[in-house]
Amino acid sequence: MPGPDRTTRRIALANQKGGVGKTTTAINLATALATKKRVLVIDLDPQGNASTGLGLPRAERGKGSYSLLIGERPLGELMQQTKVPNLFLLPADNDLAGAEIELVGMDNREHRLREALDAGAEALKGFDFILIDCPPSLGLLTLNALVAVESVMIPLQTEFFALEGVSQITRTIERVKRALNPALRLDGIVLTMFDRRNNLSELVAADVRAFFRDKVFDTVIPRNIRVSEAPSHGLPVLLYDMRSTGAQAYIKLAAELLRRERAAAKLAGAHTA
Ligand code: ADP
Ligand code: MG
Repeated sequence: MPGPDRTTRRIALANQKGGVGKTTTAINLATALATKKRVLVIDLDPQGNASTGLGLPRAERGKGSYSLLIGERPLGELMQQTKVPNLFLLPADNDLAGAEIELVGMDNREHRLREALDAGAEALKGFDFILIDCPPSLGLLTLNALVAVESVMIPLQTEFFALEGVSQITRTIERVKRALNPALRLDGIVLTMFDRRNNLSELVAADVRAFFRDKVFDTVIPRNIRVSEAPSHGLPVLLYDMRSTGAQAYIKLAAELLRRERAAAKLAGAHTA
């Protein structure tokens, strides 16, 4: 089932809960990766926070992921360079809010993003990563993301009900894997908004690790005011305040992701050799 473009790793940031750090992780992980790799962020949330956070306010967005999903324009005409070198954005257009309903009546409704990305192979030449920022629901937009990628990253806010909320998304991943995208993997869980001064954060983190084991990234993203200030300046925290604990954590997360990718590639090579 692999499409024509499989040199670009596609990762969806998904969790049906809002406010857990999907968008923040998409923006900042992408920015950190872009220091070494070529990256595209796809904003698939009608709220368009990833677009705003990468410096593209609503009024300047023009056409984006909605236009791509309905087949109006190809990827190459829709992606935009951000002010971060090597980082590109497919913004959320203002019509994206209607897509959830419009898609219901369309052919191939769960596969539209995958097909559009496969068809955009030429525009994606040289790209190493696509990070897809999903809306806070498990509707058709998130389904399109899960069908288009081979890996899902779940940002999990380090709070009391963390594990209860996560079963809904992991069950959806299993269902998509069985029915629509056998290559899909949970890979992996990122603990966000960790508060070192709060005992509960430690307890929750330990719980999540006991349950998901090596699926959980070693890197933990701390709660950091600079992270929450950055989007109002249209900047990733790495550009807003590089030395902040939040920026440093995302740099570490990117390095860990690249290490995991290399280890997985080596393992795959060993199996086919
Ligand atoms: P989601 O995309 O899952 O809805 P966001 O990434 O938009 O979540 O984060 C929700 C809110 O929490 C935003 O206001 C964001 O700025 C803030 N936030 C996210 N991560 C952190 C962090 N590490 N420290 C402080 N605030 C954060
Ligand atoms: Mg978001």
